[in-house]
Amino acid sequence: MTSTPFEALPLAAPLHRVLRELEYTTPSPIQAQAIPLLLQGRDLMGCAQTGTGKTAGFALPILQALHEQPRQIRSRCCRTLVLAPTRELAAQVGKSFTTYGRYVRFSQTLVYGGVGQVPQVNAMRRGVDVLVATPGRLLDLIDQRHIDLSQVEFFVLDEVDRMLDMGFLRDVKRIVALLPAKRQSLFFSATLAPNIVELARTILREPAHVSITPETTTAEKIDQQVCFLARDSKRPLLEQLLRAQANATEQKLTIVFSRTKHGANKLAKSLCASGFPADAIHGNKSQAQREKALDRFKKGLTPVLVATDVAARGVDVRDIGLVVNFDLPNEPEAYVHRIGRTARAGAEGRAVSFCSEDELEYLREIEKIIKMPIPRWDAHDWHIEALADHHSRGKFSAAAKSKSPGSPRRSGGQRRSHGRGR
Ligand code: AMP
Repeated sequence: MTSTPFEALPLAAPLHRVLRELEYTTPSPIQAQAIPLLLQGRDLMGCAQTGTGKTAGFALPILQALHEQPRQIRSRCCRTLVLAPTRELAAQVGKSFTTYGRYVRFSQTLVYGGVGQVPQVNAMRRGVDVLVATPGRLLDLIDQRHIDLSQVEFFVLDEVDRMLDMGFLRDVKRIVALLPAKRQSLFFSATLAPNIVELARTILREPAHVSITPETTTAEKIDQQVCFLARDSKRPLLEQLLRAQANATEQKLTIVFSRTKHGANKLAKSLCASGFPADAIHGNKSQAQREKALDRFKKGLTPVLVATDVAARGVDVRDIGLVVNFDLPNEPEAYVHRIGRTARAGAEGRAVSFCSEDELEYLREIEKIIKMPIPRWDAHDWHIEALADHHSRGKFSAAAKSKSPGSPRRSGGQRRSHGRGR
């Protein structure tokens, strides 16, 4: 962790003022590395997940440029384009610009699907300094000639790994092709798989690289545990964890991850019936429903939120003390994103993953990408030693064997079930 204070960074007075008000004294590692490079006008390739402070890392230098060089903007144009994979993340980024830019004169609008386009079209008519958008709706409005990208000076691609997971590669390429060649581009991804590096190469010009690996930031403050148990035991163990949370002296919020929308709904309902106020967010809920659920969660009115991976993207709530992976994700990268919901901004958090027999292969893949075994937690009534044992033996042979988990030993009257899509 760097010890250089924010005051040492050459940021404009209105930005220092807001940082003081927010009581941000020390830049996070990604901010300390990225802000000076971005102020020099460099392109940037950032490997960092949410929770590292990357939003301020790019928003502050952009706001600084908007403050120092105010400009008349043409109708339908924007000076800054931030592309985000989901509307939640877009809303979150928009909120960060509003917060950090409190004392800067600039205009901003959000463009995402799931809501009427008329207010978005009207907002773009005057042109804006900052446009935060999701790819689909942005292209819709470009095709209808409501948005023109020819004047973009700053281009930010946020959470690119997620964007590609969600099938936005073609959309992203179409959007990039519409940008002017002279621009400053910033590219953020939590992972750097070859296809991501290849895409970055086509977008960035002599980029500076900054990398904040999860192991050295968020993840190390998270107390990670895995429980080996039968699928049917997940509910009672979850209730035990929630009861302990509710009885703790410091009230913290809990996010529970479900692999399917249907599972999320069912779980939230049954938790409510058992006396744990819970709500569900997933892709089938309207924007208004999701915002309402998030708002109630943030206020602690429903201290338990059951979410699918896509819906939880961009959920930035400070007081999440516990993440429960009720189902393990079938994409191992999602695990890193999920547990990153806790231990935000230097706080500490706990992430408990439930692993039933049919999920052993998922666990193996996760441990491969986080490059460590997740410590097991067996001090509960539903632990199945045979599963834990099977997993630890599997790990040593996994590298040599094919990807198939083989046929794990049945134990404890478990049912076999396989996760459906989100
Ligand atoms: P992000 O990774 O951009 O989603 O930021 C994670 C959280 O950290 C947000 O709640 C920010 O408000 C907070 N944050 C960002 N930078 C700092 C900082 N330098 N000091 C304290 N909190 C910060």
